[in-house]
Amino acid sequence: STRREHTHQSTTPVASDNNKKDKQNEVEIPPPTQKERDKKKKQQPMCQISGVKKLMPSSGLTNSSIPRFGVKTDQEELLSKELENLNKWGLNIFHVSEYSSSRSLSCIMYTIFQERELLKTFKIPVETLLTYVLTLEEHYHADVAYHNSLHAADVIQSTHVLLATPALDAVFTDLEILAALFAAAIHDVDHPGVSNQFLINTNSELALMYNDESVLENHHLAVGFKLLQEENCDIFQSLGKRQRQMLRKMVIDMVLATDMSKHMSLLADLKTMVETKKVTSSGVLLLDNYTDRIQVLRNMVHCADLSNPTKPLELYRQWTDRIMEEFFRQGDKERERGMEISPMCDKHTASVEKSQVSKPSGLFHLTSAALLGFLLIHSDSL
Ligand SMILES: [Zn+2]
Repeated sequence: STRREHTHQSTTPVASDNNKKDKQNEVEIPPPTQKERDKKKKQQPMCQISGVKKLMPSSGLTNSSIPRFGVKTDQEELLSKELENLNKWGLNIFHVSEYSSSRSLSCIMYTIFQERELLKTFKIPVETLLTYVLTLEEHYHADVAYHNSLHAADVIQSTHVLLATPALDAVFTDLEILAALFAAAIHDVDHPGVSNQFLINTNSELALMYNDESVLENHHLAVGFKLLQEENCDIFQSLGKRQRQMLRKMVIDMVLATDMSKHMSLLADLKTMVETKKVTSSGVLLLDNYTDRIQVLRNMVHCADLSNPTKPLELYRQWTDRIMEEFFRQGDKERERGMEISPMCDKHTASVEKSQVSKPSGLFHLTSAALLGFLLIHSDSL
C-alpha cells in the first residue's frame, strides 16, 4: 500500500520531496520478492486487518444512472420528504432506512456530501463516493442490533447538524468538516455487537491485536481506512499528501475519542474549554489553534454518538430497544461461557434495568449536559 500511495501522490511537489527522503532511507533494504512476501504472510500472525470482505464490484455506476439520493429506491418521493429534515436534529433515520432499502448510511452520507458540496471541493468522483459508501455500509453488520449502519447514519447526520451550530459558524475548514463526517461514518464499522471488555475477557484476536487498548475503536479505524484501498473507493484521491496526513490524524483522534472509557476525561477537558472560551464580537467561538479545534471536533462526534436521549422520544425508544437487545445478546454469550454477566446485559433482570435506561441515567445526563453546554455557548442563537 505504501508503494501505491507513493506513486499516487508524487504529483504534488510536497509529496515528491518526501518521496526522496523515503527512498534514501530505503536504500539498504531490497524489496522482498513475491515468494518471500507470500512466505512472510504465512509466518506473521495478524498481518491482515480482519473483517475486510471482498465484495462484488458495484454494478457499473455511471454518472447518468446515479439515483438522486445515491441509492436505488422505489420510494424516492417519501425519501425526499424525509430528507427535507436533513439539517435538523429530529430527522427520522429509521424512515430513511425504510425508504432506501436499508441503505441509510449510503443515502445519508451521499446526500450530506452533496449538500455540503464536498465532491466539488475535494474533487471526489461521484462513482468513487458511492462505491466507498456502499462498501462501508456493507462492512457494518446488519445482524447486530444497535451498532449497525443505521447507527452510523444517525451519527453522521447528527454530526452534520452539530457542525452547523451558529456558535461555530465558519469556524472549521472544509478539510476539518470532511474529517469529522468521515470519522462519524466509519466510527463503528465491523462492530461485532460486543464490548471492548468482552473482547478482552474472551482473549479475542482483536484484543490481542490492540493490546486491550481501545480495541474496537482501533479496529473501526483500521477497517474504515483499509476500505479506501478497494477498487474505486479512494474518495481522498485528489487530496495532496499533507491534506491526507492531516485528515488521517484528525479522523484517528475523533474515532479513538468515541471509546467510552475516555468519556470522563473528554468531558472534563470540554468543561475547561467552555469555561475559558474565547468568543468573537459576532458571538462565534474563537478556535485559533489546532488543539482547541480538534478538541471541539472530537467532542462533537462523541456527542453525536451519544445523542440518542436528546432525540424525539419515538426515536430514543427505538434506539433503547436496540441497545438493550445487543446488551442481552452479549449477556447470553457470557452466560453460555460461564462468565460474569456485564452490567445491563442480563435479560433476566431486564425489568429493573430497562427502566433505568429509559430514565436519563447519570451518564446520559452528563453527556446531554455536555452536548447542550456545547450548543448553548450562545443561548441567544437558539
Ligand atoms: Zn457509535
